[in-house]
Amino acid sequence: MIPSVLPTYSRAPLHFVKGEGTWLIEADGRRFLDLGAGIAVNALGHAHPALVHALTDQAQKLWHVSNLYEIPQQQALADKLVASSFADTVFFTNSGTESCELAIKMARKYWYEKGHPEKTTILTFDGSFHGRSSAGIAAAGSEKMTKGFAPLLSGFKHVGWGDHDALHAAIDDTVGAILIEPVQGEGGIRPLPDQCLKGLRALCDEKGILLILDEVQCGVSRTGRLFAHEWAGVTPDIMMVAKGIGGGFPLGAVLATEEAASGMTAGTHGSTYGGNPLACAVGCAVMDIVSTPEFLETVNARAGFLRQKLEGLVAAHPDVFEGVRGVGLMLGLKCKVAPVELVKAGYGCGVITVPAADNVVRLLPPLNISEDEIAEAVNRLDFAADAVLEAKG
Ligand SMILES: *Cc1c(COP(=O)(O)O)cnc(C)c1O
Repeated sequence: MIPSVLPTYSRAPLHFVKGEGTWLIEADGRRFLDLGAGIAVNALGHAHPALVHALTDQAQKLWHVSNLYEIPQQQALADKLVASSFADTVFFTNSGTESCELAIKMARKYWYEKGHPEKTTILTFDGSFHGRSSAGIAAAGSEKMTKGFAPLLSGFKHVGWGDHDALHAAIDDTVGAILIEPVQGEGGIRPLPDQCLKGLRALCDEKGILLILDEVQCGVSRTGRLFAHEWAGVTPDIMMVAKGIGGGFPLGAVLATEEAASGMTAGTHGSTYGGNPLACAVGCAVMDIVSTPEFLETVNARAGFLRQKLEGLVAAHPDVFEGVRGVGLMLGLKCKVAPVELVKAGYGCGVITVPAADNVVRLLPPLNISEDEIAEAVNRLDFAADAVLEAKG
């Protein structure tokens, strides 16, 4: 009999009932160090007082009004994002995949209004992940996500990750945009080298192509800069955000330049919930904390500490790990064993991690994790690595 919850996930038998900062507490009382943060969502950990206050304060006043009216919290969050990024304008969504939908619509509408209705093709990359909507799976294109869901949204061309020749060969007069994650998340924590992002920007400028960055996972201070592309010193035309921006409350956004957004006039897009007062009150509280130079400095210091500890872990377990990769607090342990084995062993040792493609275990801790928590988490990973080897005999 089909379970009452549609079984599209194979879930771990864990029932968390409470969260405190970097800790998750199971129904049976066990305490876990959370290096998954709800897949890079709980950017400030669990039950952060400023976020609890922002949410409960807003909940006492007004939950929802719809975008038929002015929403001051939405205005405030848009102003903060515009002030601290390349963007001139912002549309709020409830998830990453909805941000993907709008980013694609915006790019196509841009070229349509410019008198180039033929420029509908969007180049994307192998190993990418852009959400589970029909557009999102067509954009990513992997068989795992698309099989059985045809007909797929057309107009995507997929290029091998790092395959410069294929990229250049794929560019023709129909290409209107390039869509890429500055650091692939689901694909296995694969950072795009700064030089390559610079090169993509230059290519887009030369050929008259919009650059869309998917910062749903790597954005919002995860890499040690507010947005990951800042490391490369270039800016996109359109950017997708979600996950960390709501700190656990469902919130996403599409940020764009005035030029790239110019086709999106009144009536061309909408969302009932997108940018509602509750979500934006929390989003403002998140931004006020994660966008300050002091916070980013701490993220970078903690990232350096975690990375150093992980290098030690890898060196201590050469049969389990191949290496560490990633940027900031978006790190991956490349494994020589099946990543799920390590993740499961971690459950037994009180540490939460997340598997990814390419034999990688992802570490995406709350950005305000302490040094003591990092040290303890890596200790627990050390036990987990032992347990994986023991199980293999
Ligand atoms: C998670 C993710 C998405 C999809 O976000 P949802 O909120 O699950 O719809 C899109 N792109 C990237 C890079 C992601 O990591």
